[in-house]
This record gives sequence, C-alpha cells and structure tokens, in this order.
Amino acid sequence: MEHETFSCTMCGKCCFGMGKYIRLVGQMGMNQVVVRHDISNETVYATIPRRYRDDFDFGEARLVTEGRCPFLIEEDGLYPCMIYDSAPKFCKDFVCCKMKVFDTAGKLVARVNGQCSVISDDLGFSEWWKKTIAILPNENWEKHASSILEQNGYRVVWYD
Ligand code: SF4
Ligand code: SF4
Repeated sequence: MEHETFSCTMCGKCCFGMGKYIRLVGQMGMNQVVVRHDISNETVYATIPRRYRDDFDFGEARLVTEGRCPFLIEEDGLYPCMIYDSAPKFCKDFVCCKMKVFDTAGKLVARVNGQCSVISDDLGFSEWWKKTIAILPNENWEKHASSILEQNGYRVVWYD
C-alpha cells in the first residue's frame, strides 16, 4: 500500500463552511488581524500578506458569520489560506482524510476517512464504493480496499 505524509492539496473544502467558526475580531495596524477560532478556542495574530492586501476588506471580513472562512481565497484554481503561516493550530494540524483515491489522470476522486466514510463528488464512484468496499469484512479492509481499487485502475494513497 502506498503511504505518504499528509499534504493539503488546497481544494478548500474544509474551509468553505468555516465562516461560522473563524472570526476576525480585531485589527492592529494596517494589515494585522486578530483571529478567533471558536472550535479550538484559539486567538492568533496574523498579517495579511502584501499580495492580498488590495483585495482584503477588513469590514467585510468582520461581518462573516457563516459560509466560507474570510481568509480563504481563490488563486489559480486552488483555495489557499491567506494567513496560513500564522493560522490557528487547529487549521494547521487538520488532516481531512486517511486515504485519497485518484483516477488515471491523477484527479482526486475521493477522500476516505473510513470504510463507510467517503467523500466524493462522483456519484457513480460513491455507489460503487457502497457495493464493493463498504461491504468488505472489517479486518484488514484497508489492504483489501487498496487492492480492489488498484485492480480498477485507481491510485490509492494512505496518510501516516
Ligand atoms: S485539508 Fe483536505 S479538505 Fe482541507 S483544503 Fe486541504 S485537501 Fe482540501
Ligand atoms: S484560517 Fe485558513 S486554514 Fe483556517 S479555516 Fe480559514 S482559510 Fe482555512
């Protein structure tokens, strides 16, 4: 089985709903922000990097109470965090899945957290998983799942 250290691909999915929990609670100087993370009870001080300053609106960011995190941006088809260097520890430590499944073109097909916990935009794949992988015996399911997925042309990466 292929193992890697987890690395975020900046798909942004875990940050799209974080507007409820990440709050800009203060401003210190022109480009310094005070950020609260309501799940982990953290307060961090972050600097808005120079390249984002023209587009960042403090007033707007302060009003965010739901939806996407105010520090999530879209850049070249990816969704990086503009304050990642000083983001809350909760964000930095977050690992969104135990395993990822890629198709032959290297496109992410699914993020997997368990035998019955799969996130995929591909409904066909989700249905196939339910009928093929979710019903495997619990013992060693990871090994069997990897082998079935690989036989079906997928690349499977497990995270340590
Ligand atoms: S942690 Fe996972 S879900 Fe969140 S942005 Fe990175 S790859 Fe996407
Ligand atoms: S602070 Fe950054 S990593 Fe944390 S939820 Fe917001 S965009 Fe995502």
